[in-house]
Amino acid sequence: MSSFTENLAAVKKAIERHALHAGLAVPTPNIIAVSKRQSDEKIQQALDAGFRVFGENLVQEAEGRWAARRAAYPDLHLHLIGHLQTNKAKEAVALFDVIHTLDRPKLADKLASAMQAAGKSLPLYIQVNTGEEEQKSGVLPKDLPALLAHAQTLGLNVVGLMCIPPVDDLAALHFGLLKKLAGEHGLTRLSMGMSSDYDLAASMGATDVRVGSALFGARQT
Ligand SMILES: *Cc1c(COP(=O)(O)O)cnc(C)c1O
Repeated sequence: MSSFTENLAAVKKAIERHALHAGLAVPTPNIIAVSKRQSDEKIQQALDAGFRVFGENLVQEAEGRWAARRAAYPDLHLHLIGHLQTNKAKEAVALFDVIHTLDRPKLADKLASAMQAAGKSLPLYIQVNTGEEEQKSGVLPKDLPALLAHAQTLGLNVVGLMCIPPVDDLAALHFGLLKKLAGEHGLTRLSMGMSSDYDLAASMGATDVRVGSALFGARQT
């Protein structure tokens, strides 16, 4: 068994254990293997093990890693989980299947026209800056209703919310806030939880966890 396969089994087990512990009917989350800055060898291990759902945070890096592999693996499912510049919207729409980081009206405009031109309607998550951190991407909770309304007016397919909690804060507070905001707006999907807290996120209702180092090991610098 490859180390990816073992790690994936461990991640699934931890998710199950936490869900049981929560004693709640929580969904089994979709595991997104975050492949940014991982070696080709490790990516290939995951593909050889039959895994197909990957996350990347940079459009250009993702193109290098995945564009050529699309043909060999038609069932690949690629998630953009990093900040998206408006001038990369077209490339992002061409490469990815899901975008987790819609966070401003201008980007919604660009994504709408790029998807129209490409004849696509990708599922989108709105990234919420739940910690209201100045340096972090994401819409502030108070600006979420307006952004969502704007995206819906454009016909965008917003399916859920995404957050990255501040490193020095209790993640549970942010997962709880994200879930509350999603509920208020009738959104069903929650992209939350990384290697350090995917099990907690799952027990709080995450539908998508974004797990990198726990699956692949440390990233290359
Ligand atoms: C890198 C990254 C992850 C994965 O981080 P790990 O701690 O390695 O699991 C998850 N989400 C986002 C937005 C990231 O940029």
